Amino acid sequence: MSLKQFRKQLLVWYSQHQRDLPWRAEKDPYKIWLSEIILQQTRVNQGLPYYTKFIENYPTLSDLAKADETEVLKLWQGLGYYSRARNMLQSAKLIQNNFQGVFPITHNELLRLKGIGDYTASAIASFAFDLPHAVVDGNVMRVITRLFAIEIPIDTNLGKKKVSEKARLLLEKKHPGMFNQAMMELGAMVCTPQNPSCQLCPVSFGCMAYAMKKSEYFPVKQKKKAAKKRFFHYAFLTDGHSVMLQQRGKGDVWQGLFEFPLLESTKDENEVIGYFQGLIKKKIVVKKVSNTIKHLLSHQLIYARFYIMTVSTLDVLDSFVIVPLEKIKDYPVSRLTEKWLQEEGVL
Ligand code: SF4
Repeated sequence: MSLKQFRKQLLVWYSQHQRDLPWRAEKDPYKIWLSEIILQQTRVNQGLPYYTKFIENYPTLSDLAKADETEVLKLWQGLGYYSRARNMLQSAKLIQNNFQGVFPITHNELLRLKGIGDYTASAIASFAFDLPHAVVDGNVMRVITRLFAIEIPIDTNLGKKKVSEKARLLLEKKHPGMFNQAMMELGAMVCTPQNPSCQLCPVSFGCMAYAMKKSEYFPVKQKKKAAKKRFFHYAFLTDGHSVMLQQRGKGDVWQGLFEFPLLESTKDENEVIGYFQGLIKKKIVVKKVSNTIKHLLSHQLIYARFYIMTVSTLDVLDSFVIVPLEKIKDYPVSRLTEKWLQEEGVL
């Protein structure tokens, strides 16, 4: 494949077919950073309203640096992978306090920030500062494994290394920002996981997978590990006006989000109710128990049940807060809890 022709064809195609997205012509590293963090693990259509909301609430890095973590998590609610939001906030504070609010420029400096790995550092360095770093996201990875028919599984270090090598080889160094965006756009719009539009692809002339009629065979992946099963029982304990909430701690999913008193256990319904009875040391009346709700996270499958229980009065207990029912919406909660609250008509 002629590299010159490859780059030219790709850039011409990009100039004619790129989607109009708010961060496309952006040179502000803060906005590029935000868009890239949101778009990790999230589709453009889902991420777009979050990007707009964030920019409205925190138009600059210094605005984000002043924000409160609960507020930021609330804005992030529904996007999942909440460590992304917490890391952004910590890094914004660090840039504001230690670097006088000036965004680091080089790839190495960017890598020192929490939540910024090679991918995001390359995206910021190339989009904002036109530095020659190849961006390899999931879309680019797929394009490259197909172009070069790479058989090494991409979820291994060796596979990742191979793809990065090829990405560096392809990179157009005069316009690295535009070239990277073109590769990403090609993966998102043409070289899709299923049914790639090879007939419309501007670089099909150089694609080995296409020549072998095996486009969809790539990328090769190792066998996925089965998701770990967990059993959550949530007590919606209310006196009719308020409800008990607690904030999730470190080292587990949904860090910093709020939830109802939780028992994680394979115990049966009566034992679970007995546990909550013991927790608040009061007579409780069970009004309703939900069906088991399956909620899939990246490596965990959560089976959740929600127990609506009433008590005469709610007392403040260690690590719990008592929140008026109409204020629940102000607290960041997991998508699982949000969906249940919506179904029950609480939100
Ligand atoms: Fe992807 Fe098909 Fe283009 Fe190859 S020819 S890069 S498989 S869309």
